[in-house]
Amino acid sequence: MSIRCYSCGEPLFLRSLNSFRTVERIIKTMQLTFYGHSCFLVEIKGKKLLFDPFITYNELARDVVDVNAIEADYILQSHGHIDHIADAVSIAKRTGAKVISNWEIHEWFNKQGVANTHPMNTGGKWNFGDFTVKCVVAQHSSGLPDGSYGGNPLGFIVYTDEGTFYYSGDTALTLDMQLIPRWAKLNFAILPIGDNFTMDAADAAECARMIQCTNVVGVHYDTFGFIKIDQEAAKETFKKAGAILHLVEIGKSIQL
Ligand SMILES: [Zn+2]
Repeated sequence: MSIRCYSCGEPLFLRSLNSFRTVERIIKTMQLTFYGHSCFLVEIKGKKLLFDPFITYNELARDVVDVNAIEADYILQSHGHIDHIADAVSIAKRTGAKVISNWEIHEWFNKQGVANTHPMNTGGKWNFGDFTVKCVVAQHSSGLPDGSYGGNPLGFIVYTDEGTFYYSGDTALTLDMQLIPRWAKLNFAILPIGDNFTMDAADAAECARMIQCTNVVGVHYDTFGFIKIDQEAAKETFKKAGAILHLVEIGKSIQL
């Protein structure tokens, strides 16, 4: 005979187990490794999701990160610009990673000899087993390095048992971001903050408010002259908006 709770009648050992599981869910984190510019890797259930690989031509990253040592099970490609795709073909060929992108970029990868691709487009979602991806609007452009048409740029919401996150890709602040809380309760978001080509820190902080997420990793800053920022001022802007801006050192990982 088991000992039961005096008020609800539930066996006591079951209550302790359930509260332990609740705590476990709350403290569960995901690891994000930053490879410079907008290239980062998130590990989900032992699977490595690499976003927008650009290392070889990034003066800040190429001596810090060994591009030939990066492992990936999936490459998520937000759009076709060189500062997001430069190392994608070589990493995809070496690792056999599946490339997730829009239709036009999927066709372009096929022409480069990368057959393991999954085409998507804005508004669509797909369950990849360990995670689900939903493609959302990004206000930007998307030509490929050889001049091919790159389709529309994408942002991604990635849903997992371990948490959910949003990578906006290169984008302006847009009212479309207000839809995101209807689709996802985010643990963290990865947003560009470098201005000139994308949102600056103030617009990214406004985005954080719209998407109801206070835990933000900043990307797309300091890589070259057009997007040099004052990092402390950017962090302060987020602080005033009640959010945290993480600026991760290139090659380093954080738990989110
Ligand atoms: Zn870019």
